Amino acid sequence: MSDGSGRVHGNYYSNEAVIAAILGTENGVRYISTKKSTETFSFSQAALAGLAPDGGLFIPQAIPVYGESVKKSLHSMAFLEVALETIRPYVEGEIPGPTLEDLCAGAFSFAAPLVQVESEDQSTPLVLELFHGPTAAFKDFGARFMARTFSWLRRGEDRPLRILVATSGDTGGAVADGFFGIEGISVTILYPKGRVSELQEKQIAGLGGNISALAVEGNFDDCQSLVKAAFGDSALQKQVVLSSANSINISRLIPQAVYYAAAAGKARVGFWDSDGDATPRAVQPAARASPTAAGTPRPVTICVPSGNFGNLTAGLYALSMGAPITTLVAATNINKTVPDYLESGEYQTRLSQETISNAMDVGAPSNFERMTAHWDIAQLRRMILGFSVTDDETRQTMAAVYRNYGYYTDPHSAVGWTAVQKLSAGPAVPGAMIVAATAHPAKFSETAENITGPVPIPASIEKAMNRTARALTIPPDISVLRDFLLSKP
Ligand SMILES: *Cc1c(COP(=O)(O)O)cnc(C)c1O
Repeated sequence: MSDGSGRVHGNYYSNEAVIAAILGTENGVRYISTKKSTETFSFSQAALAGLAPDGGLFIPQAIPVYGESVKKSLHSMAFLEVALETIRPYVEGEIPGPTLEDLCAGAFSFAAPLVQVESEDQSTPLVLELFHGPTAAFKDFGARFMARTFSWLRRGEDRPLRILVATSGDTGGAVADGFFGIEGISVTILYPKGRVSELQEKQIAGLGGNISALAVEGNFDDCQSLVKAAFGDSALQKQVVLSSANSINISRLIPQAVYYAAAAGKARVGFWDSDGDATPRAVQPAARASPTAAGTPRPVTICVPSGNFGNLTAGLYALSMGAPITTLVAATNINKTVPDYLESGEYQTRLSQETISNAMDVGAPSNFERMTAHWDIAQLRRMILGFSVTDDETRQTMAAVYRNYGYYTDPHSAVGWTAVQKLSAGPAVPGAMIVAATAHPAKFSETAENITGPVPIPASIEKAMNRTARALTIPPDISVLRDFLLSKP
């Protein structure tokens, strides 16, 4: 089914796809648009196109399920094994097993430890630390997998793939790092000049090589308009093979299901990882190993700090595949479109409001379309509890968690901690409680330092800070962007 031959772009109506869909000859998952067109697509078509031809988002036609033996042994499997078992059914028939293993090993080259923050009364949640990748945020998992997958799917192509992304700060760094040095692909990142932090600018514009950075004299909307204009420029498209790498790409979402399954499998039987150097504590407690014997299985709740709801949707995929997750908590800042929807049943998007957890300042979450394409509101309410958290509450949590446990949280993860506290204040929730920590606190040190004092800097951030940002400043003018793209080999 894989076509990998360059016919992917603009070839949505291939006879091959239609015949395969009718005959059911495919063995892996097929993909459809959230707009419910009847047509199905292969993984490579969905990944490389990004958006479906009808403007919808790609989703798997049916969410695959783990085999019984996998479900039983999630707690004892290595992260890479969980990754293979989770991702394989989504790419079966297109990416051979050994290749998938290489792609995963390259992408997930860092840990996602599930740690128990020390407290006297064991009242603290487990923390799933998703910030040990090169840009210190969970987006590394998706961006690194997507980059390697794109490169493999386009093997043998003579023309390089040109990825074009607009960023307000955070996504750009993960994409730059994910694609850095990846063969056959070059990346151009547009960011608003002077409006990203020094660290973000160095993560975006400090790598060089196949990553180019354009500092646009304007705001984020100007950057996005330029990218849109480039995709709408048919003359340009004839000369360069353009693709996007934004967060709605299905190949970024699927790999994020992996850490939910791995963490839930452990938490269910009372396991966690010894934290060692991984945890940014003020005081290192004696490393504590996992309990040796598996306990009685218990329900698992995972709280996900959310903005565009890609991460939470990946959690829903893991749950639907059969990972032992009882409930997901959707924790938002005051941009609470989804918690309000869960409560009222009415979906009302709003303009986004600025907060200190700014990677979650989203008033119209793009993955909502995926959630409602798979599940109706009754089903969503059974799986998800929504909580919204104010900046004041977030600051208080950052301060309290540091004061009480010596543990640093970033403003996004602290929204999750706060939601867990709100949940725990209600009728008791039995079982294991996990907070997904989406970024390292040093990444948002401007906010964190005022509350907890200087935050220990991890090696990944120190490395980025030592780089020199080299960006070309451009006006918000499509003809300048076009010339830039055409000037590159
Ligand atoms: C992107 C991001 C989020 C929000 O994730 P979504 O998948 O958009 O819901 C939360 N925290 C941090 C640190 C992020 O970078």
